[in-house]
Amino acid sequence: MHQLVFATNNAHKLEEVMAKIKGDIQLLSLNDINCHDGIAETGTTFSENASIKSHYIYNKYHLNCFGDDSGLEIDALGGQPGVYSARYAGGHGNHAANNKKVLLELVNTDNRKARFKTVISLLWNGREHFFEGTVEGTIRRELSGTAGFGYDPIFQPDGYDITFAEMTLAEKNSISHRARAVEKLLVFLNSTSA
Ligand code: IMP
Repeated sequence: MHQLVFATNNAHKLEEVMAKIKGDIQLLSLNDINCHDGIAETGTTFSENASIKSHYIYNKYHLNCFGDDSGLEIDALGGQPGVYSARYAGGHGNHAANNKKVLLELVNTDNRKARFKTVISLLWNGREHFFEGTVEGTIRRELSGTAGFGYDPIFQPDGYDITFAEMTLAEKNSISHRARAVEKLLVFLNSTSA
């Protein structure tokens, strides 16, 4: 049995990955390994931040592990909020303020193109592997829907006429950036641990 740490305590993310892992892998959270350290996301790219998390755990606990980082890139804002998505309006995780700020910044803009991106850094037997997931879409002019979190009420994925916040969790999980990155990670894990 291989042990693999997911450098997160986000129960939702853990459950999503746990449900899909096959083969000989036991998935552990930071809680499971008694790690309560705040790992500072000091990078300037998603890859850097994901890598900071995986390396922190690998160097301290010598366990195979992966970290992830994600956010929203808006073309008309030169890719912002990007890695600063959680704290775009100042306070960390103030989703209402973040959405309000995006809508204000884009009020005079017809270019509404944006994408959600997730990067996963996996450290497996000392080697780093990256997995990326992207979902393209547009930014609405108003909030719509109450499901999900973060920028979901203003993000409409291409090919749909509803926002992420108007989708069921299953629907969002079938096309989201995070799901796509996780799928690639799982293909790798399931092929190495079978
Ligand atoms: P994290 O790295 O997955 O924790 O995401 C960082 C920030 O990006 C979150 O706080 C949200 O503001 C934004 N974000 C990431 N994924 C999503 C999503 O699926 N929906 C809406 N916002 C997201």
